Amino acid sequence: MSRAAATRREIADADWRDWTWQMRHRVRNAEELARWVRPSEDERGAVAALAERFRFVITPYYASLMDPEDPECPIRRQVVPRLAELGDPHGVADPLDEVAHSPVKNVVRVYEDRIAFCVNNECALYCRYCLRKRMVGDEDWSMRRRELETALDWIRATPAIRDVLLTGGDPLVFSDDRLDWLLTSLRAIPHVEILRLGTRLPVTLPFRVTDALCRMLERHHPLWVNTHFNHPRELTPEAAEACDRLTRAGIPVGNQSVLLAGINDDVATMKALCEGLVRLRVRPYYCYQAQLLEGTAHFRVPIERGVELFRGLRGRTSGFAIPQYVLDTPHGKVPLSHPHLVGREGDHVLVETFEGKLWRELNPEC
Ligand SMILES: *Cc1c(COP(=O)(O)O)cnc(C)c1O
Ligand code: SF4
Repeated sequence: MSRAAATRREIADADWRDWTWQMRHRVRNAEELARWVRPSEDERGAVAALAERFRFVITPYYASLMDPEDPECPIRRQVVPRLAELGDPHGVADPLDEVAHSPVKNVVRVYEDRIAFCVNNECALYCRYCLRKRMVGDEDWSMRRRELETALDWIRATPAIRDVLLTGGDPLVFSDDRLDWLLTSLRAIPHVEILRLGTRLPVTLPFRVTDALCRMLERHHPLWVNTHFNHPRELTPEAAEACDRLTRAGIPVGNQSVLLAGINDDVATMKALCEGLVRLRVRPYYCYQAQLLEGTAHFRVPIERGVELFRGLRGRTSGFAIPQYVLDTPHGKVPLSHPHLVGREGDHVLVETFEGKLWRELNPEC
């Protein structure tokens, strides 16, 4: 039996499926990591060296998906620190210039009609390619609640906002009661038409998606959820159950992944991920170009290679299984795609089919 399987056997099912148990028993250091995998020298060194700078926390559920013997495992690489995070020259602290686009604390407004509302700084685990792994101080709920009230006041006073995306951190780290309070406050604002939650918990802690949570969310429709699967191995029966609960509550569920070198940057893996998602009725929405943050250069895929990868899916799987590959910039998301529209020739336009053939379509200028 692998060490992961042996560790899992020591835990009672009722504890394992209790999301609060999972939160309280998260892996936080090299000794706890060693209960699930055989840490490499590189991983041990990185956990020790980075402990003061970047948060390292993994839910037992997600830890159980790691390959105990293979440090290159795509699950393991997303959450276990590596020495490559040190000594990376390219990173910038705030690549999206979120501070400049913030009309009020915790709100990022890049578009006229919609905002990202960062409701907390907490996630169930911290992904190594993400800005949120940066250390930030713990804070208490009364302070957080006051900050949220200030942002709610701003939204109330800004009638252009019709779409509010709750993000963080991760809004599902909140208890049902706190989230219900926040959603009820937003729902009471007449110009807020749709609510969205961005959450990775269906992937990293699927037991968070309880029937009680779904019954609460259902009362705040129209509410959309975008989650964040990056690899087909994350599509477990537990994750499938979480997505099924959400969709049965009438919530359209989408997926936003990040293109990560050595994790999902080949056509076969991306295709397996996207086809697995649509089998769960989860619509692949965006795939992000990874941001150049400090300590993330080893995850980076050049944009041209990303464009070729998604070109390789076109025509080769269901159209709705293909996400839009995007670059997030301080001026909004920019679609990155192979130019299928080649140009004009007299009364015709030339387009390129998925097989690379040219097609001439009659298209007079007027
Ligand atoms: C991504 C994002 C949105 C939502 O964008 P959509 O393309 O509508 O999904 C809104 N505000 C900010 C700041 C964002 O980064
Ligand atoms: S769950 Fe999302 S916000 Fe949290 S660390 Fe991972 S990518 Fe970042």
